[in-house]
Amino acid sequence: MRAAVYHGPRTVTVEDVPDATIQEPGDLVVATKTASMCGSDLYLFNGEVPDLVAPGHTTLGHEICGEVVEVGPAVTRFAVGDRVTFPYSVSCGRCGCCRAGQTAHCLTTGKAIYGFGTAFGDLGGSQAEYVRVPHADDHLEHVPDAISDDVAPFLSCNLPAAAIAVDAAGIESTDTVAVVGCGPTGLLALDLVRQRTHAAVYALDPVAFRREQAEKRGAIALDAGPDAADASIQTIIDTTHGLGVHKIIEFAGRGPAFDLAVALARPGATISGGGVYLERDHTVSLFDMYFKNLRLLLNGFANAKTAQWRAIQLIEHGVIDPTTVVTHRTRLAEFPTAAQQFADREPGFLKMLITP
Ligand SMILES: [Zn+2]
Ligand SMILES: [Zn+2]
Repeated sequence: MRAAVYHGPRTVTVEDVPDATIQEPGDLVVATKTASMCGSDLYLFNGEVPDLVAPGHTTLGHEICGEVVEVGPAVTRFAVGDRVTFPYSVSCGRCGCCRAGQTAHCLTTGKAIYGFGTAFGDLGGSQAEYVRVPHADDHLEHVPDAISDDVAPFLSCNLPAAAIAVDAAGIESTDTVAVVGCGPTGLLALDLVRQRTHAAVYALDPVAFRREQAEKRGAIALDAGPDAADASIQTIIDTTHGLGVHKIIEFAGRGPAFDLAVALARPGATISGGGVYLERDHTVSLFDMYFKNLRLLLNGFANAKTAQWRAIQLIEHGVIDPTTVVTHRTRLAEFPTAAQQFADREPGFLKMLITP
């Protein structure tokens, strides 16, 4: 089978790899219909987390719509031909963490994540023709007929993560809100935020194209680039009676973006972070947090399994249309080039769908 294999920073090649096969009785194999690339994949793709990946071996991708092609003898909920999607992490449904809703921290699988390198279970990714799905009965999800192959990959990661972060923030109808980071997940979060508050919603991102998308969604878009962030903070302070915003949804997952979130917060504000924070050395001032009585909620290691049903309902009821963030389509063979465009945040690039 063909798969995109990591070979080093910004270098993946599509090549033959060992076939995805049934290894345990509870496994099944899916043929990828549509996959996508997540912002969190960029940490691996860019070579920022070399400890996690094995060059020449690691395949990437944790977002999928697939069709079941082979079923292990212990699988009861799925049959060949079923359309399915998985949450980005594999959970057993039975351990202490799974029972407590912390499915991303599953003790049985050791926080296994599809296509996220050796440190997270060494599982094959979805940027491939086929994927092995362990513990299928416990975490795989059927895709309802009303949800297309193009939309289902958003059930794996982006939409559950957006819903979890926005729900956690507890936005009231009069809250001013800032969304920091307007990539695909930030924009989906922005859509959810706009449905919760009648007050101003600010959107901050360093990329002009992303700010335009936020503006189209009804937000007041401001530049979060290094030269502009201070002025943007001042604009928000000035337009909120000198206070800052009530709720901040942070999806950039980077140190400077988190600092921006703290700066925008009014006393008593809530920061709900849905981003992936891998900068171990970035310091956050306890004093700054304390002196504003801030409430900090980080759910970026998202328990996507627990929010998949809610994400399905958001799509089925027409509350959210994830296709609004899709800007590119590519075949697996051309994926390496598209991945570089995504990594470079080329103008006009938000989310790509990948078909075999
Ligand atoms: Zn993801
Ligand atoms: Zn578990």
